[in-house]
Amino acid sequence: MTALLQIDRLTASYGSVQALFDLSLTLEEGQVVALMGRNGMGKTTTIRCITRLLPATGGSLRLAGQDVTRLSAPRVAQLGVGLVPEGRRCFAPLTVAENLLVAARPGPWDTARVCALFPRLAERMTQVARTLSGGEQQMLAIGRALMTNPRLLILDEATEGLAPVVRQEIWRGVRQLKADGLSILLVDKSLKEIATVADSAVIVERGATVWTGGIDGLTPELTDRYLGV
Ligand code: ATP
Repeated sequence: MTALLQIDRLTASYGSVQALFDLSLTLEEGQVVALMGRNGMGKTTTIRCITRLLPATGGSLRLAGQDVTRLSAPRVAQLGVGLVPEGRRCFAPLTVAENLLVAARPGPWDTARVCALFPRLAERMTQVARTLSGGEQQMLAIGRALMTNPRLLILDEATEGLAPVVRQEIWRGVRQLKADGLSILLVDKSLKEIATVADSAVIVERGATVWTGGIDGLTPELTDRYLGV
C-alpha cells in the first residue's frame, strides 16, 4: 500500500544552521501519527518542510506516492495538505464566517460541517476573529484548514496555552475527525490525550527520528528518555 505521507531521511537548515539531520516518517491513509520530542528537536521544522515553507536540503517527501520534495507551498496545499500552524493564525479583522469562506475549496467540508464539529463557532459567525478567545481562535484555525478539504491535516501544538475545558473540546474534535477517517499528523505535549487518538508515534531528537512504533509501544522508559524534561 502506498503511504499517504512518506518522509525519507529528510535534512533541512536555517541558513547555515542545520535543524533536520535524518528525519523519516510514514503515515498511512486514515491514520493519526504523533510527532513527538522535546522542545527544539525539529518537530515544527519537519512540518515546515512538509508544507514546503522551508526547503529540504536532502532526503525526500512523498504524498500518496508523488514526490513533492521540490514543489511550491501552494502546490502542496492544493494536493491536500492542510496546516494548522502553531499560534492559531486567523485573519484578525475578518469575521468567523469570512475566515472560513476564504479558505473554502470544494469537498465535503463546508461551514455547516465545521460548525457541527465546533458548535461554539456557530454562535460566533459574525464576530471578528480578533475578538475571539484563544480556544475559539484555535477552533477557527482548525476549521479553516478543514475548509480546504485536506487529505492530510497537520496540527502543530493545537492545544498549547489553552484552558483545560477548551483543550477537551479540541481533543474531542480531533477524535471526531479521526472517526471520520481523516489522516492527521499532530504535534502536542499531552501524552495522555495523544494516547487516546494516535495510532502511532515518531520520536524526533536533534533533528533525527530515533523511534517509530505503535502508540501502545510508547513505554514509560521511552517517554522518560526522549520526552522527559
Ligand atoms: P518546539 O516544541 O519548541 O516548537 P520543535 O521540536 O518544533 O520545538 P523546531 O522549532 O523545529 O523544534 O526547531 C528545531 C531547531 O531549529 C532548533 O534548534 C531551533 O532553534 C532551530 N530553529 C527553528 N526555527 C528557526 C529559525 N527560524 N531560524 C533558525 N533556527 C531555527
